[in-house]
Amino acid sequence: MTGSSGPFLFRGERVDVGERRQFELPAGRLASGTFLNVPIEVVCGARPGPVVWLSGAIHGDEIVGVEIIRQVLDRLDPGQLAGTVIAAPVVNVFGFVMESRYLPDRRDLNRSFPGSRSGSLASRLARLFMDEVVAPSAFGLDFHAGSDDRTNLPHVRGNLDDPETRRLALSFGVPVAVHNKPATGTLRAAALKRGKRVLLFEGGEPRRFSEETVATGIPGTLRFLRALGMMKRAPAPPHRKTLISRSTRWVRAPRGGIFRLATRLGAVVGQGQRLGVITDPVAKDGTEVRARVGGVVLGHTVNPLVNPGDGIVHIAELDDRS
Ligand SMILES: [Zn+2]
Repeated sequence: MTGSSGPFLFRGERVDVGERRQFELPAGRLASGTFLNVPIEVVCGARPGPVVWLSGAIHGDEIVGVEIIRQVLDRLDPGQLAGTVIAAPVVNVFGFVMESRYLPDRRDLNRSFPGSRSGSLASRLARLFMDEVVAPSAFGLDFHAGSDDRTNLPHVRGNLDDPETRRLALSFGVPVAVHNKPATGTLRAAALKRGKRVLLFEGGEPRRFSEETVATGIPGTLRFLRALGMMKRAPAPPHRKTLISRSTRWVRAPRGGIFRLATRLGAVVGQGQRLGVITDPVAKDGTEVRARVGGVVLGHTVNPLVNPGDGIVHIAELDDRS
């Protein structure tokens, strides 16, 4: 069941055609005995169509997707929708309440898929998500933000060698789409193995609602749903071509010090172009940081204090064929 054409059954409970319903997936108990649940909203469209999941905060502190999904749900009219949306805005509820990327045992949920019923907490949560959300879906959209002290340009990632995934990636209308292979243990890798199509939306920083990311993610998601034939209308795409990248590289700090950024997210930079400077607190001159490859600035650190080797600017090389 990866398409829906009648009432949708979520864990055996019925969501009628043209209705929306909220559920709670039991994720386990805290040491205090308090139960934590993964909040889910199922929107069952009036017309037949695919089943799609939207997931946020798999990394518990990457909360921008929580806001994007909330606002997308607000704009979905089950009476007009074709197919079913399963929204899971806060997958890693443990990390979310602690404002942490990880679970309480420091495990990364996005390295714990497909998971198991008897494994670590991360593994159990991964398995629960695979069984209840991924299994009935045909497509998934997973929302992330930069990790640590880094911010990202709003962009999508996926297997762009698959023509349908590429079409959906381009439907978003984001500045950049990145082709890459998912790391082992990620939700994307596990879902691809089960024959699902998955896109990642990345943008902004952890623990923040980046305005630009929210403003890009909401219409992008609506256009993605329209491209799947689930909506009749979506906001018009921006007047810009989505650039394609098949390789991204971090420019690393040549030395420790205070980094002053001299570029911005989305800037197109040439090889050798100055990206900033690293100085001592009292020095006038410093060490220039230059782009080793040309491309688009996809992300950068927001913490000016850097150690040697820190990734400070992330550059997406552009595919000549795009
Ligand atoms: Zn993430």
